[in-house]
Amino acid sequence: MGINSEKSTLDIRRPAEACNLGQSVINFGMAKYADRLPANVDGALFVDGNCIDCNTCRWIAPKLFSAADGYSRVYRQPKSAPDWTDAARALIACPTGAIGSRDKSRPELGPEPYPELIHGDVYYCGYHSPASFGAASYLIRTDDGNILVDSPRFARRLVDRIEALGGIETMFLTHRDDVADHDKFAAHFGCDRILHADDISAGTRGVERQLTGTEPISIGQNLTVIPVPGHTPGSACLLYKDQYLFTGDHLSWDADFPRLRASRQVCWYDWDLQCASMQLLADFRFEWILPGHGRRCHLAAADMGPALAELIGRMRGGAAGAYQVHNLAAAS
Ligand code: SF4
Repeated sequence: MGINSEKSTLDIRRPAEACNLGQSVINFGMAKYADRLPANVDGALFVDGNCIDCNTCRWIAPKLFSAADGYSRVYRQPKSAPDWTDAARALIACPTGAIGSRDKSRPELGPEPYPELIHGDVYYCGYHSPASFGAASYLIRTDDGNILVDSPRFARRLVDRIEALGGIETMFLTHRDDVADHDKFAAHFGCDRILHADDISAGTRGVERQLTGTEPISIGQNLTVIPVPGHTPGSACLLYKDQYLFTGDHLSWDADFPRLRASRQVCWYDWDLQCASMQLLADFRFEWILPGHGRRCHLAAADMGPALAELIGRMRGGAAGAYQVHNLAAAS
């Protein structure tokens, strides 16, 4: 997804740098209570007018946040320590500092939550950036060096935690929209960046490795880049261990139905090409879909083929297919 919203020009605050989870105290005071949206239910926790509707808080804390006419809102106030922990995770991840609490601080929030282990050696980074319209980013820990997939916000607390996890050897950028603070991470960690040449722009001319063509290419043990042009000319997925597919804005999970999802509304380049690229993915084995925007999911490997076929049918104008997900292992 790109930043095609007027809201992206708002004054962006950085609440995460004000958090101090190490001391079990978090400052909820960056968002302005006076600017809270009227759709919030009454109480301490609120979303203010700086929200850009990136959806992040809704999948991190679905018991607290819901959609409301182009924004997110608090539809249920936290009632317990776990609720407040979820609120804190959402606040730290929020790209615009739009989440706050009238109480300013809450106790018992535990240690710094990000990067957060998803499964195996794959982590979710939190700390979304407004420069990527709040896209998610991931860290893969490997014996040959860690890989950062797309760019989170360059926040000190996150950087410290990534250093503790072994730093960054390589930064893989799925497409031109989700590069955010790539230059700061590259400068700090001395990592090489990888981006398809067809998505290079003024801000990414310095990317060390610029891929060309449409053939899948290995970038390390168990790591294959699969070009998937469509959303943008140079969109690419990263396949890890034939298990995890990092998809950028090419493919995600739709929790409402539930089924796989690709968005024509945010296809900036060529929808027919995106359909063809989706078909190519049917040749690969994977279980996890880890997107920039939208929900992630974990299906049984045998379910992925039928789920993709159903999606491709809809992308090409067909009605929703008969395929139903029977073995959804995890989604968030
Ligand atoms: S994470 Fe922040 S910007 Fe994104 S929908 Fe929630 S409140 Fe809005």
